[in-house]
Amino acid sequence: MKKFVGTALMFAMAMSLVAGCVRVENPAETETSETVAAEVKMGLKDNFYYYVNGDELKSEDVIYGQAYAQGSFDQELINDRIKGIMDEVLKGDGYVKGSEEDLVKTAYNYYVGYDFENSGVPDDIEAIIDEIRGAESMEELMKADAKMCTDLGMESVLTFEVRTDMRDSTRNSILFDQFEDMMGADFKELVWDYGSLSSVRDQAEDISEVFFEKEDAEKIGLDTAYLVYDMFLNTDQEICNCAVPLEYIVYFDEAEMRENFPGFDVIGYLSSIGYDKAHLDKFMVLDEGQFRFLGQVLTDERLSEIKIFELYRLIEKYRVFIAPSYEQFQGQISYKDLDTQAKDIIINSMTDIVDPLYVDNYYDEETDEYIRAMCDDIKEGYRGLISNADWLTKETRDNLLIKLDKIVYVTGMDLKRCDPDEYKNICGNNWYEMYRNYLVKKNAETVGKLKEKPDNTVPGMPMAAVNACYDPNKNNITINTAILNAPFLDLNADYYTNLGGIGMVIAHEMGHAFDSNCIKFDYNGIYDPSWISEKDVAALEERNQKAISYFEDNFTVFEVYHVNGEKTLGENYADLGGMECIVSLAKTKEDREKLFTNYAVIWSIKKTSDSLWDQLETDEHSPEILRTNSILSTIDEFYETYDIQEGDGMYIAPEDRISRWH
Ligand SMILES: [Zn+2]
Repeated sequence: MKKFVGTALMFAMAMSLVAGCVRVENPAETETSETVAAEVKMGLKDNFYYYVNGDELKSEDVIYGQAYAQGSFDQELINDRIKGIMDEVLKGDGYVKGSEEDLVKTAYNYYVGYDFENSGVPDDIEAIIDEIRGAESMEELMKADAKMCTDLGMESVLTFEVRTDMRDSTRNSILFDQFEDMMGADFKELVWDYGSLSSVRDQAEDISEVFFEKEDAEKIGLDTAYLVYDMFLNTDQEICNCAVPLEYIVYFDEAEMRENFPGFDVIGYLSSIGYDKAHLDKFMVLDEGQFRFLGQVLTDERLSEIKIFELYRLIEKYRVFIAPSYEQFQGQISYKDLDTQAKDIIINSMTDIVDPLYVDNYYDEETDEYIRAMCDDIKEGYRGLISNADWLTKETRDNLLIKLDKIVYVTGMDLKRCDPDEYKNICGNNWYEMYRNYLVKKNAETVGKLKEKPDNTVPGMPMAAVNACYDPNKNNITINTAILNAPFLDLNADYYTNLGGIGMVIAHEMGHAFDSNCIKFDYNGIYDPSWISEKDVAALEERNQKAISYFEDNFTVFEVYHVNGEKTLGENYADLGGMECIVSLAKTKEDREKLFTNYAVIWSIKKTSDSLWDQLETDEHSPEILRTNSILSTIDEFYETYDIQEGDGMYIAPEDRISRWH
């Protein structure tokens, strides 16, 4: 899987738990569970998160095998709604050819009617397999790889995306991402445990046995495991662990690219996929060391292992069509009924078809007006905060205000419906053809995007994902339709309740524009750390250090584990700036109570200790209980509203509190 660069996500996975996450100076006697329950202080002034959410959390059950009980970020609810929409579509008839309804109905009927067991491997896949097997040089193998992109809609083995150029936000460029795993071996896990390399070896042996000489299988299996291991050794773990690793990106020009890939004509390869030659003049590379190693590997010397890797990727992408023909590749069997399987695969693999239907059913102008008005209010809140931040020079404040003004809101109203003319020919004659044609169409769109100008009104993520995001190059926030439900938004609820819910999400995303990472982008969306004067950089850095200590020193999980203050700083700042902003909009005690309470509610979720541990290791977002309590513990208005005093669990001494803007 590649590393996702650029936008700072609202959250990666849902998370948090009931207890286990209390302030340091609250050690509980631990004789019996009753004494713990009695002595850990869970009142409003001691643990606001638990005070608000405790009853609900106690009644939630995490199902065995699951990481958490679904909280406010309820993707299941959205998926059920989409299934409901599909049921309606399936009942109807006479749809325009190529419309979303027509495509959903056709895809569903094709899927339930497809004979996976007996259809055999589709001919075009078979032809590509033969081409990979027969390749006698890396040049030939990369020709097969290009065909996998253009004819089967697969990702290039080079792993890249087309995105706004970091240093020139008026054009798109290719960004070579970091490989974070290979053949199922996760590079972060390999740091501690080589276990997954045996699985790589076994899979490579299986593939080799099926498609090449049996007697070579053992050696090829081992060589492939070493290839993955070497790739891991050449991976920069700091980049792996960095939330927004923009500062690591380096640029290669055409000559450097050619030099980096002596094993084949890399520019010719990219052109043959359809990428515009005029835009193959400069490239962004995330992990230079790994990328240089990739260049050494894609040569004739490692041809056998790369063939295995290519076949592995092909089998993964088209497993349901390939695996029934080979017992070596048969893995998990789905026990879901056919109806659920069909709907799940359409939701998960044909996002662009499903998304407009969701928006059509669950978004309207009234909601859009409400959201845009709230965005404007939040902008005004930030205007006040930035204008008054006299610890920054006037020049920087003025520049940040221009950046603030330029932030664009992207909502469901910006999502375009599919053009039936573009889609009317993708259906083919069966599920395989439709699935493949859809992937091919999406790849062709990516290819076309390289020569297009970046468009800051295009949603940054699917509208049916319960999430929101900020893109520093486009300086826009995307507010997905799927997050506009209670407790985030309820048009019948009080404004300040909504401000503590969706308002906080919006303020968080807008806050990313000024967080420790994204502040390095100027108001035109260009990455240029020097646009902030040295004096202001020093002032910001001093605050960064204090903020890192604040989150690391004052709060723990399970009373011993600390968050990584540096890694979570960008997200914590987005939360802190966001809270300072929305609090500035609430004028009365009652308004603030509604706002603080709903802020705690949106983060209510119960999770297992394992998933919490995972989060601390891998996620740039702090656990929910900390997102709530650590932020509120440093907001003066919170102290005033609830009369928090020394000795209360939520209390932090004034000199130890931090602020983003004050
Ligand atoms: Zn965020």
